[in-house]
Amino acid sequence: MAETIRLYRAPLILPVAAPPLCDGAVLTADGRVRAVGPYPEVRRLAETLPVATEVDYEGHVLIPALVNAHCHLELSGLAFLSRQWQPAPGDITGWIRRLLAAREERPADPDAALLALARLFAGGCRTVLDIGNEPGSAAIGRQFKVEVFFYLELLGFSGAAQEAALVRLAEQPAELCCTGHAPYSTGPELFRALKKRAAAASCRLPVHVAESVAEEEFLAHGGGPLRDFLQERGLDLAAYRPPGCSAVAWLDRLGLLDEQTICVHGVQVSREDIARLAARRAGVCLCPGSNRYLGVGRAPLPAYLEAGIMPALGTDSQASNHGFSLWHEMKVLREDHPEVEPATVLAMATMAGARLLGRESETGVIAPGVASALPAVVCPDAASGPEKVLEYLTTAGEDIRLEWIE
Ligand SMILES: [Zn+2]
Repeated sequence: MAETIRLYRAPLILPVAAPPLCDGAVLTADGRVRAVGPYPEVRRLAETLPVATEVDYEGHVLIPALVNAHCHLELSGLAFLSRQWQPAPGDITGWIRRLLAAREERPADPDAALLALARLFAGGCRTVLDIGNEPGSAAIGRQFKVEVFFYLELLGFSGAAQEAALVRLAEQPAELCCTGHAPYSTGPELFRALKKRAAAASCRLPVHVAESVAEEEFLAHGGGPLRDFLQERGLDLAAYRPPGCSAVAWLDRLGLLDEQTICVHGVQVSREDIARLAARRAGVCLCPGSNRYLGVGRAPLPAYLEAGIMPALGTDSQASNHGFSLWHEMKVLREDHPEVEPATVLAMATMAGARLLGRESETGVIAPGVASALPAVVCPDAASGPEKVLEYLTTAGEDIRLEWIE
């Protein structure tokens, strides 16, 4: 059967892995990018092929598909939490209490997860790392041509809770990726077992780490609001000896930090922590929208970039974020760090996420071989050059409108 070959022309193309192209074109064949470059050049190549269609995307900019490197789709039905209630700045235990109470009252809503994925897809995202308690999001994702990498989250900090989590872990099918929650909710034995399993199955290990001052306080001294919270949840902490170090240092001591581990949030980190993450080549995913909602602080993005780490971006759940879109994350990040180049922010939402998930040969950039599903973003100033367009893309938030090219 003959290949379906298409030629797409746009006043601006941002391949991300390569410099911007004014009056550029993308040539696609059977769902893959065949070539990307200046229009006259790609047009000449297209003339040697039986091109089925040529589409002129005037007033649009073509960009790589976005990657949501951290979210919890099953909490989508609890979006009312972030809409109706604002925690005191940094009161993470207050928020967790509310979340747990809301979960007890309302069972997970699969329709809300479906709508959340539809919303991500409509916003230009086709790759998602989803963490939850019930697998199923991967199947939902196929309805929107969204690749969902699901991770089952296990909690068990110590004693019987950790033992039970280890038993549950051993019962999971080999093909299911599993992960822990955070250093204050996942014990050392469970973390080590999860790491061993992830390495054997070539899974990533996404872990919430250094999200709040409360977490750092608990690990450093064993006290603070997280201690009260865990005791309230029935944990016996009488024999607990805190590691006496930062969350990042604790994960390193447990042997968790390497290229397969994704440190999510990374807000309360020191220069030493960042140097440690860089030395271990650990992945980092920032969730600026969620961090802002919870008031836990801003991740030190310039320090990460200086250390050679380009973090990916995640929305986290709708229960802890006023927005639910990578465009919202980019906007918040620009507001938090006006000194960071807009091109870097777009690269974080695309290429960095794809790399973190090991999908860089499939998505996150516009280059020969990647999937040809690319967002064509409506941008009246598309012909006015990359600087103006990048400014718009990274500050417009959820006002962005786009369609997918195939
Ligand atoms: Zn999360």
